[in-house]
Amino acid sequence: MLQKTSHFMKQANLIGGEWVEADSGQTIDVINPATGLKFGTVPKSGKAETARAITAAAKAFESWKKTSAAERARLMRKLHDLIIENQDALAELLTLEQGKPLAEAKGEIGMSAAYILWYAEEARRVYGDTVPSPWADRRILVTKEPVGVVAAITPWNFPSSMLARKIGPALASGCTAVVKPATQTPYSGLAWGVLCEEAGIPDGVINILTGSASEIGGELTRNPLVRKLTFTGSTEVGKILIKQSADTVKKVSMELGGNAPFIVFDDADMDRAVEGAIAAKFRNSGQTCVCTNRFFAQAGIYDRFVERLAAAAEKLKVGNGLEDGTQQGPLIDEGAVEKVEELITDAEAKGGKVVTGGKRSTLGLTYFEPTVITDAKPDMRFFKEEIFGPVAPVYKFGTEQEAVDLANSTEYGLACYFYTQDLGRTFRVMEGLKYGLIGVNEGMITTVEAPFGGLKESGLGKEGGHQGIEDYLDTKYVCIGGL
Ligand code: ADP
Repeated sequence: MLQKTSHFMKQANLIGGEWVEADSGQTIDVINPATGLKFGTVPKSGKAETARAITAAAKAFESWKKTSAAERARLMRKLHDLIIENQDALAELLTLEQGKPLAEAKGEIGMSAAYILWYAEEARRVYGDTVPSPWADRRILVTKEPVGVVAAITPWNFPSSMLARKIGPALASGCTAVVKPATQTPYSGLAWGVLCEEAGIPDGVINILTGSASEIGGELTRNPLVRKLTFTGSTEVGKILIKQSADTVKKVSMELGGNAPFIVFDDADMDRAVEGAIAAKFRNSGQTCVCTNRFFAQAGIYDRFVERLAAAAEKLKVGNGLEDGTQQGPLIDEGAVEKVEELITDAEAKGGKVVTGGKRSTLGLTYFEPTVITDAKPDMRFFKEEIFGPVAPVYKFGTEQEAVDLANSTEYGLACYFYTQDLGRTFRVMEGLKYGLIGVNEGMITTVEAPFGGLKESGLGKEGGHQGIEDYLDTKYVCIGGL
């Protein structure tokens, strides 16, 4: 391990500027999925520690909200620079706990830095309005203020950048936060505490807890001092958190599951489509909410697309993410592999054929071979369920309308992709797809400048873009009379 990596690997929680253990002294083991071995522990915090962290955040809010936007932007630029200076160490820590190839981990850390810089810039552009008044003797002002204490709960697939999207707008707007990273990947989350301290962000502005998800989540949603909850994770847990937040009417932002379609029309540029398909399916071993879950290929190019996709998938190098040249790391845990196996068995029983892969890699543990399945049908489980693994089912379709209807027949609406060279079709399909993120002839579209967020049961609110700060702000209307 790089010396700097251990510097960022904090095995404690950050509450009000202090690094502390759980009250009970209990810990949770953290496992490296590439080796199956424990490489550290984190505190098993619960309700009491969460309540203290919220109190610390509420206290820090009183002074942090009064800092100028320029001052917050200055500290955030420092935070950005620290991330870039330590990109290698932070990436190594991420790969150790999450398993993704080091090159992807470096990319994720770069993305984290980019979110912080973007929101450092946006901090100074939180404008209000003056509105033409219907009364001669009164004036109308609309002002924006930080909402207060923000709770953030994040998943294991992007343990650093999912927090950047939440910490960035929170800091920029003048909010304080209590953060709970995923239990499987806590260190990239706790590393934000070290970075914020070194950047000079005041104590209590960012608090970070690990431990029991239901206890911490329970207190974060119950406590009236928390005014906003931002969550990235499964739709199932998101719905629980929305319900729990109802009693105190918190603002909620939800980045939930997806069931991304990837449509290849007969007139597509095949080289480009295959390249995009590999990126949109196999990045992070298929463990992202924008990963393709269903490929739809038009009848005229179906066989050719399947063949090309399988040939490209076969070439992907599976291995430990820290080793040079690895393109597919292990899946996060045994449960993830079992789910993938169940989905493949179900598909095969219903007539699906494995063209390549379909089984665990000879490397053992949670390594799985990149898989392509042909003759996929809508009655197979993975038509509706998120695969979250390196399995690419390919469905055949005839007409444009059929493709759009199939793509939309899901309760999800996060990312989708389609490949065509026809301009009219581009607009018809783009307007027909009920998705928050659309890649046209592109398989990787996430960037800090654009609003990321799903429709339907994929979520509420946007992260990134100038829209991403709105949910961290309260709007006030002021009427000044007697002029
Ligand atoms: P994934 O399938 O990606 O693990 P989850 O929705 O299970 O998605 O987890 C996302 C985050 O939500 C993690 O930090 C996890 O610990 C947390 N979490 C899971 N269950 C709850 C809960 N009941 N209350 C609050 N947070 C939860």
